Formats: sequence, structure tokens, C-alpha cells
Amino acid sequence: MCGIVAYVGRKIAQPLLVEGLKRLEYRGYDSAGVAVIDSAGNMHIRRAVGRISVLENTIQNGQALPESFIGMAHTRWATHGAPTECNAHPHLDNSGRIALVHNGIIENYAALKKFLSGKGHQFSSQTDTEVLAVLIGDLYDEMKVQNHIPPGVSPLQRAVQAALHQVEGTYGIAVICKEEPDTLVVARKGSPLIIGVGKDEYVVASDASAIVEHTTQVIYLNDNEMAILKPDAFRTCTIDDIAISPVVSQLENKLEEYELGDYPHYMLKEIFEQPTAISNTLRGRAEQKDGRIVLGGVSKYTRELIRAHRIILTGQGTAWHAGLVGDYLMEDLAKIVTECTYASEFRYRNPIVEEGTVVVAISQSGETADTLAALREAKERGALALGVINAVGSTIARETDAGIYLHAGPEIGVASTKAFTCQIVTLAMLALYIGRRRFMSQAQCQEVIDGLCAIPDQMTKVLEQSDHIRTIVEQFCERENWLFLGRGYHYPVALEGALKLKEISYIHAEGMPAAEMKHGPIALINDGMPVVFIATQGSQYDKVISNIEEVRARGGKIIAVATEGDANIHRYSEHVIEVPDAMECLQPLLTVVPLQLIAYHAALARGCNVDKPRNLAKSVTVE
Ligand code: GLU
Repeated sequence: MCGIVAYVGRKIAQPLLVEGLKRLEYRGYDSAGVAVIDSAGNMHIRRAVGRISVLENTIQNGQALPESFIGMAHTRWATHGAPTECNAHPHLDNSGRIALVHNGIIENYAALKKFLSGKGHQFSSQTDTEVLAVLIGDLYDEMKVQNHIPPGVSPLQRAVQAALHQVEGTYGIAVICKEEPDTLVVARKGSPLIIGVGKDEYVVASDASAIVEHTTQVIYLNDNEMAILKPDAFRTCTIDDIAISPVVSQLENKLEEYELGDYPHYMLKEIFEQPTAISNTLRGRAEQKDGRIVLGGVSKYTRELIRAHRIILTGQGTAWHAGLVGDYLMEDLAKIVTECTYASEFRYRNPIVEEGTVVVAISQSGETADTLAALREAKERGALALGVINAVGSTIARETDAGIYLHAGPEIGVASTKAFTCQIVTLAMLALYIGRRRFMSQAQCQEVIDGLCAIPDQMTKVLEQSDHIRTIVEQFCERENWLFLGRGYHYPVALEGALKLKEISYIHAEGMPAAEMKHGPIALINDGMPVVFIATQGSQYDKVISNIEEVRARGGKIIAVATEGDANIHRYSEHVIEVPDAMECLQPLLTVVPLQLIAYHAALARGCNVDKPRNLAKSVTVE
């Protein structure tokens, strides 16, 4: 959450910063701001509530920024203090010399604020971030007065280090100071920060999307590390000032992959990209010819995986739903006791991790704060820790023992779509990889691999029904309550369908196992209430039909996601959306697509901003 972009180099900073912010806007859009230091050493700040476009208009209409070669910008997802202009970043210290942008939460801000107020410092915002800016300024003054900074060392660096020693919580920060107008100091703990290394320039950002158009060479900062960047030199060290040699990596994704292209929204683009994304996830891993799964990323731990006694899948939101499907897959295909647990609960509940436990952290961004913390907890307790991650080089990917990247390409839409289906495909491959080495026959493995490889084409057929789905949705989009029901593999799909609808159209929706409805939620059903049933032909088809009858008897309107050619289902449903037939364990990959499209079209019909839903942001880097 929140986007930071900072620059030092030979180019004019301001346009580059604003462009970078636009690429990061999906990480937060409560407010935006930019700070630069001009050639005369003056600090200039512009801030605006709302979208980056509002900030851009402010700059273009009368509040132009002077030419400068250093600066930083921020798009906020508020944690402390309302989304107002005075709470927008960058924040200044009391002297106005030092500016700071921050992602994360300073947990002990109240105590620090009290201490600093006692020394006479003033605060103009309600944020935790301003406290850190003021603290750095206070320490900067102290150091200058004491005059004990060795020649050649940046006082700003020292002040930042001293301040970070007093801070509890998480941060990705960038700091500039008008007394050191060629120095950009950045640091991280718990929030992502990537340094793009160009020729005589550095672009720092919370994710690669703001860097890739400038350079593909990057340094990933680890927790408690910082960098001091000048156009012609840089140094990386810990916040204790121990020098570290930086590892420069190559970015994987191309600029075009971050572009919207001809689509009106990233969400729609990503829904339609799913056949290609899944092909990329499968490529080189699901070998149809010889019915084999090749997972280089986890092969080092094959013995541990085969002998595992328990698998714990963990994630948040949509990734957790993918984990729930993974739970069924692991038990079905790998025959290992599996549970799927919210990362936020796992980390705090004193979990039992016995010998032979494998924990799989699932996260699109690889930065989800709770999932990262759960992973660390699992490792601490001796589990083998695997990652199912999309963003290459992300923190979770780097901290796991081994893992499998999705290769789904960047996901920008706040409502996750292609990551969900690629996570399921990845978990299916992992289940096959283990299962084949335990009890699964070659023939069964081949059958599932064939099924997986057929999914992209089958999914394309589902996508062709987008207009049909839109016409159905338009009849119900005024309704404020929806239910999504499914059994077995489709229970997590029902949860995901409800989540998508809530996220982007602000309709209250609940997903649950179809049989649970009778234990309470059936009381909600009234005349005309839309109820989406995932009712494909499979082991529980007849039971689902009975549940449909129960809803119809109470006036609910049925939208059924059903198997292509199922004439019977039309007798029970007002509307039918067909998906091609597939093995039961792979059906979620097809049945979720209509639900993604239902949410998309409902949001459009209600005039909601599909890619920037209210109160949400991508990549939840705070707890
Ligand atoms: N805690 C800070 C604030 O509320 C930073 C939030 C963010 O990461 O965007 O301003």
C-alpha cells in the first residue's frame, strides 16, 4: 500500500516523479504529493487530496515546480489521519529543511510525538509519518551542534540512522534535505523499496512499475538496510552503518506489460489476460508429452515435500481463497493433510508446527505484511517455507526456502483476477508434483496435466460470454444484497465471487458453502434477491439443485454457472452462464471467470471506479 517514487540524477525530476506516481497509483489514492529541491537549494512541495491527476492539475495550473534534479513523490493509503491535504506526504521537519515520504506505520509515534512536543516541536498533521520527519530534523540539528560527524559522511544519513533506531513499526522511506541537495537517503523495514540503478541516476520506488521505463537494473533493499544515493555515487549499508555490497538484479517484466493497451480498465485487461497468464504459469512446468510436472524452484526440497505430514497454505483475501482451492487439491491429489489459514490469524495464534510441516505463503505482490509475518513465524518454528508469488524479487519470494513464481505478468487492477487463477494452477502443479511421488498413478497425473493444459482455450470460451453476463447483471445491479453459493471446490469460488462484487461495486455479498445457507443466511432471501449458484456437473450436482430449489421457493432469483450443454439447469434458473466441462478439481479455474465478469459489469453499471475502488489499495503492506 502507498506508492513512493524518488529520484536523484541529471534529469529534471518533477515530470519523472509524477509519471512514476501514476504507475503506482493502484497502491493508494487518498492523496498525492511531491517535493523537489531546486538548484538554489530551496525546497518546494505540492500536495493534493485525491488522485494523481488532481496533483498534476495543481502543478500545471499556477503552482509549477522549478527545475530540479532531486525529489520524491508519494501516493497515500491513509493509516493515521484522514485523507486531507495536511496529512498528505511529503512531510517536513520543523525547520522545513528535510522532507520525507513514508510507507508503513510508525507504531510508537504517539510516544515520540509527546517527547518531541516536550522539546517545543510543532505538528501540522495527524500522521505517524510527520513524527518521523520531525524526529529526523531534531536529530539533524543535534548532530550539527555537536559537530561530530566525520568528514565525507552525510549528516542526513546519520540523522536518519539515529531516528530509525528510535522507531518501532514498519517503513519504506525516502528523505531529502536542502542542506545536502544532491543526496537522497532511502531505507526500509517491512515495506518494499527498490532502487533502480541508471547511468548517473537512481530511481527508487515501492515497486518495479515506476522504475522499468528508466532502467532494468535494480537493487532490492532488505529490512534494516538503507542507501545513500548521489548522481555519481551510492552506498548501501545497514541502519547500523555496516556497509553491504549491493546485489544488482535484472527486472523481468517489460514496460508494455504495465500498460493498459486498448482496454478501458486494468481489471478487464487482466481478466482477459488469464488464458495467456495461465499458459505462462504452465510453460516448462506441466509437460504434457511425458505427463510430468517439473518445478525447478522446489526440486531441492523434493524429499521433504514427499515426506511432509502437513501442509499449511496461508494468505490474505483472494490469495487465501486460492489457498482454499489449494487445500482441496493437496488433499485430493497429494494426499497430505492440509489446512488453509489466514496469515493474519496464523501469526498470532501460537500455531503448532510439528516436524514435517510445510508452509506455503501465497501472495500476488510478495509484500503482503501479514503473509510475510506468517512466513517468518513458520520459519522460526522450523517449517519448510515455500512461496507462491507473482512479483519476482519481492520480500516473501526472497525470504522463503523455495518457491514457484506465477509468471502471470504485473497485476495492476486492485481487484485480483489473473493472480487468483494462476495461484490455483500453481498449487495444482505443486499437488501433482508431490502426489505423483506418493500415491498417484502416471495415468491420473497425465489426466490432470491434460486438463490443466486445456484450461486456457476453455477459459477463452467463457470470456466470449462477457456481453451475455453484462445483460444479466444489468437486471440486478440495483439490488444491494447478493449470495454466492457453491459446494466442494466451488465453495472458495463462491467466496471469491462475493469478494469481487463487494470490492468494486460496493454491493453487500456473501459467499458460502451451499449447504450452510440453511443454517441462517436463508433468512435473508426475499423476493427478487439475486443468488449465484456454481452448479456445474460433478459429484455434488444433485445436492446443489436441491439448494437451488430451496432458494427459489423463497423468491430468490437464480443465476447459475453451469456446465455447457446442461439442459436440465435451465428449469431451475432465471439465467445460466455456461462453462466448458472440466475435471472437477480444475473447474474453479473456469467457474470463477463469470463471477469476475459479474463484479466488473456490476461496478460499471453502478458507476464505480473499477480499478480504484473506495478505501482499497493494491499490495497490503500494513497489518
Ligand atoms: N502511515 C502513513 C500515513 O497514514 C503512511 C501510509 C501509507 O503507507 O500510505 O500517512
